[in-house]
Amino acid sequence: MQDEPGTPFFTTCDRCDEPFEPETSYPVVTDRSNGSIELYSFCDEECRSEWKDDA
Ligand SMILES: [Zn+2]
Repeated sequence: MQDEPGTPFFTTCDRCDEPFEPETSYPVVTDRSNGSIELYSFCDEECRSEWKDDA
């Protein structure tokens, strides 16, 4: 598979490093608190809210 420029591909959860299943959608968070836009992806909603609590 080839990566297309500008298209974010997520392969693992940003919190627990759980590998993602292909062709499955996962929760994504956009964080622009540092003045630049960062994208984070998570294996499920629970991980996303846990990550927000950690931040
Ligand atoms: Zn996770």
